[in-house]
Amino acid sequence: MTEFDLQQTKQDVLDYCLLSMRYGLNFNTQGNISVRLPGTDRFLITPTDLEYDRMTADDMVVVDADANVIEGPHQPSSEVTVHLAVYRRRPDVNAIVHTEPVFANVFGVAGQPITGALVNMVIYTKGDVPIMPFALSNRTEFGDAMCDVMGDLNAVVWANHGLLTVGENLRDAFKATVAVESAAKVLLHARALTDKPIVLDYHSLGITTSL
Ligand SMILES: [Zn+2]
Repeated sequence: MTEFDLQQTKQDVLDYCLLSMRYGLNFNTQGNISVRLPGTDRFLITPTDLEYDRMTADDMVVVDADANVIEGPHQPSSEVTVHLAVYRRRPDVNAIVHTEPVFANVFGVAGQPITGALVNMVIYTKGDVPIMPFALSNRTEFGDAMCDVMGDLNAVVWANHGLLTVGENLRDAFKATVAVESAAKVLLHARALTDKPIVLDYHSLGITTSL
């Protein structure tokens, strides 16, 4: 796909931002979402320090691969360099969702990966969700360090901060976020009943297509 409608893409990003608030995945100005603009070396990302429910499609920021603002009335998210590091390292990724959901954060604070409690999660993440040790996420070195931890997976928890998921498109990246948060919630409750919850190993499932 080389043709795209920039205005529609801005609206799509805003719609998922609002959905993330409705689902309780973010509060205040937490989180950010970006997409790769097809056929270009440019990216659309949410602006810094603006609540999603005050945002309009025209507040979105277009940046180049060096985080220079190409279009838009604001500065990009303070975590823009993390997004750009992922796009540089993962040509399969066209969308990134960063949220700060409670249950994924519980695992980050505990320093424990989110193992495959639900099949829906492992399909999107392609394995257990690893934990990136705490570091300030607006430093340029954070992005590469996080990519090393995430590898070929589609999700990573940032200890003491939040969750980042990626996908071939925005819908898949967002579904991964919701799936990880649901699995984290279930896993935490399962551990109240047993210290050996039954979890799935992505690689032994033989999954070749998404559900
Ligand atoms: Zn954050």
